[in-house]
Amino acid sequence: MDCPFCGKEMKEGTIPSGAKWVEDGLDAWEGIPLTVGIFGTTPKSFYCPDCRRIVLPVPEKEEGVLDKMKQRLGEASEKLGAAREQWEAHRAQEKEEKRKKNFGTKDPWEL
Ligand SMILES: [Zn+2]
Repeated sequence: MDCPFCGKEMKEGTIPSGAKWVEDGLDAWEGIPLTVGIFGTTPKSFYCPDCRRIVLPVPEKEEGVLDKMKQRLGEASEKLGAAREQWEAHRAQEKEEKRKKNFGTKDPWEL
């Protein structure tokens, strides 16, 4: 990433310890965790030694990840439902064919 201030290439790294960005006037617990996102992902941060500034992408918020998971779950269950419907239709067809076959081969006197 290029430095947004001077345009030079920035150094890439991570911030290992838990730091938060807390908006003025808010309590610390309302802050946004900067170093570790949900599932322990550590985002890369970028440092410009000339400007002595760090650009740190904010890790994905919990809600966003949960929404994505919900969406994926929804998609998965939709696919599952479709597969089940297909399977049931296939089974019904098989049953019907079997019934017809059996009907044809059965001894008519048996009925
Ligand atoms: Zn710079």
